[in-house]
Amino acid sequence: MRLLFRTALPGLCASLCCAGLLGLSSGSAAQATAKQAEAKQAVPFTVEVRFVGKVPSAAQQATVRAAAARVSKLIASPFVPVTLPGDAEACDKGLPAVRGRVDHFFVFVRVLPLDEDLYAEAWPCDLHDGSYLPVYGAVSLNARGLGDLSAADLTDTMIHETLHALGVGTLWEADARVSLSGASDERSLVTRSAGRFYYTGARGVAAYRALGGRGDRIPLDADAGHWAGSTVCSEILSGDAGDYTGRVNPVSPITLGALEDLGYRVNRAAASPYTLPLHGCGVQSAPAPTKATPPDRRPVSYASCAAVRAAGAAPLRRGDPGYRAGLDGDGDGLACE
Ligand SMILES: [Zn+2]
Repeated sequence: MRLLFRTALPGLCASLCCAGLLGLSSGSAAQATAKQAEAKQAVPFTVEVRFVGKVPSAAQQATVRAAAARVSKLIASPFVPVTLPGDAEACDKGLPAVRGRVDHFFVFVRVLPLDEDLYAEAWPCDLHDGSYLPVYGAVSLNARGLGDLSAADLTDTMIHETLHALGVGTLWEADARVSLSGASDERSLVTRSAGRFYYTGARGVAAYRALGGRGDRIPLDADAGHWAGSTVCSEILSGDAGDYTGRVNPVSPITLGALEDLGYRVNRAAASPYTLPLHGCGVQSAPAPTKATPPDRRPVSYASCAAVRAAGAAPLRRGDPGYRAGLDGDGDGLACE
């Protein structure tokens, strides 16, 4: 397989072949490889942006990269380098297949015509074995509305979508957590009660309660991938369609808790100042008066097959909005059958 990499991907040969040869040689060389891996793991978590296809304006690119850098600062744990199989499939139609060694997290960012009621959509791609954390992700920005977004709203959108690409809201249910080897994680961070979804991850719930939230679970939006808008109002992961405020919405300790529940270590100091609105959203969630009413930016990135079914969208075919390999356990191109 390593030779196949050499043949198929000459541009990557230097690093891939070296890693391969070291891994196959003596014990001391193997130790050296382990030390190299440790050294790589000491590198701060980064979210690289890779634009694919139609490239947004220079200013928009800078905004997108700044948002990715903001999300990078939330995470304190290292990225564990991984080698993706030579027969890796592309994460989505129109994206390149990622093969070989990946030593940091990245997101493919595309500008595409999406449904008019969306700003963007995002999802994680391959998941690490063991941790079930994403290796990389994909974000699609809606070409239809992109020009109307202020820099603040584009920043807000990209932070929101990058969090989805990291698994927040997209890997909360067990059937979404299928790793590279096909292993699945039975752990679920979501429960359903009386027709409503609730988040049950311990760290997120602890952060919610520390802010004055009541109960042992956090109300979620109907897609089970966002905090209920009526609960968090304008928080970054709010599912409320009216959460555009002309500013970058706060990344609350609740969302940092959700990152922790997925398995990331976080920089608590990187959370935004945030007060849980205990008496309704008030004017906080009203759109800025000078802006046109923004469309709902909730992604077609279902957290689970339960969410797909709840939305009446099952089954999803490869290429359909919301289809991703994690929902298609048997890899037949039909998810949530
Ligand atoms: Zn979302």
